[in-house]
Amino acid sequence: MLATLLEKLNINYTIFNKGKIGSKILASGNGRCNISNLNFDSKYYHNNRLAKIIQNNQKELFDYFKELKIYTKSDDEGRMYPISESSLSVLNILLKNIKKDIINEEILKIEKKNNSYYLNNNYGPFDKLILATGSPASFKSFNYDYLKSLNLKINDFKPSLVGFKTNLNIKKISGVRAKAKTILYNDNKLIHEESGEIIFKDFGISGIVIMNQSSYYNHLNKIKNPYIKIDLLDKDYDALDSVLNPKLLEYINVCNIDPHNFIIPIINTYEMEFAQVAKGGIDLSNLNDNLSLKNDNSIYAMGEVIDIDGICGGFNLMNAFCDAIEVYKDIKNEISNK
Ligand SMILES: Cc1cc2nc3c(=O)[nH]c(=O)nc-3n(C[C@H](O)[C@H](O)[C@H](O)COP(=O)(O)OP(=O)(O)OC[C@H]3O[C@@H](n4cnc5c(N)ncnc54)[C@H](O)[C@@H]3O)c2cc1C
Repeated sequence: MLATLLEKLNINYTIFNKGKIGSKILASGNGRCNISNLNFDSKYYHNNRLAKIIQNNQKELFDYFKELKIYTKSDDEGRMYPISESSLSVLNILLKNIKKDIINEEILKIEKKNNSYYLNNNYGPFDKLILATGSPASFKSFNYDYLKSLNLKINDFKPSLVGFKTNLNIKKISGVRAKAKTILYNDNKLIHEESGEIIFKDFGISGIVIMNQSSYYNHLNKIKNPYIKIDLLDKDYDALDSVLNPKLLEYINVCNIDPHNFIIPIINTYEMEFAQVAKGGIDLSNLNDNLSLKNDNSIYAMGEVIDIDGICGGFNLMNAFCDAIEVYKDIKNEISNK
């Protein structure tokens, strides 16, 4: 996204990207590309000091989608998708608007000499660097050692927007989906409440509401006896046969579970490779309001490499895209003030 914007400035830039570019765009929204959300509220983001960047740039982002001819539609919850409902069409449009070649290389080393940057002992000099290397979410292994040379506070990455593991034996209802109210408790305190579809797994639970709960879980200071309380019924019925999935009904009857109070103890989240985003990364204290680093304002950081994470619904791509607009505007201002 930033590269398409830099094209407008007629400046020389180079993109280094390890592996397939845009792979998370392709994965988003189950391949349909949940590109953004019509709504904004800082409460949809954790560590939200810089969420104002999203608020300030949201309209510009939507206008820019139109300029790029990425035409969108939205659902009742404001989730935006391209009309094609194809992530590939979004990625193709972005790539079509980038004139430079993309160098498929992992950056492992950054050096600064005489106010210029050199990468991997091979590329440079560059006047500015933009760190947009995302997070380990969805990967089995991920190297972010290069960040360490920059003297930043880097918070450990933890999987977020991911399911929970439980030690309760729920294998018999594995694969069953249910609409429910879910409440996350920790240390007997209510942490977050949300209604929507849950999916029971062999050793855990998932679904959008559960993934959202995982993001609140990750921001707990101390984890103590966490559990999810599930209310399977929106009201009391005189019979549950047509209300609950038969497998689920049998399970709660055999185990003598109150359908309003189905407790799932949590032993952890699923691993990073199953996560959609990660909590962690560059601590916000390192960043100025324009996303440049406080210890070196020729370097910017944007997107998921920063320790800000949003809930499900297009909020994470919207964060990455709005950051791109912010960095673009800053560079543009600097050029026009020269
Ligand atoms: C399965 C899945 C589904 C998702 N669904 C949604 C959704 O529906 N809506 C939504 O808003 N968000 C969704 N997300 C999250 C969203 O895709 C990310 O938050 C967003 O892509 C982050 O953008 P980014 O540019 O910061 O990082 P990324 O998109 O991760 O891009 C970073 C790039 O940098 C490369 N890289 C990393 N390290 C280096 C290095 N050292 N040198 C060179 N290159 C490097 C990576 O290989 C990658 O190509 C989903 C994510 C996943 C995994």
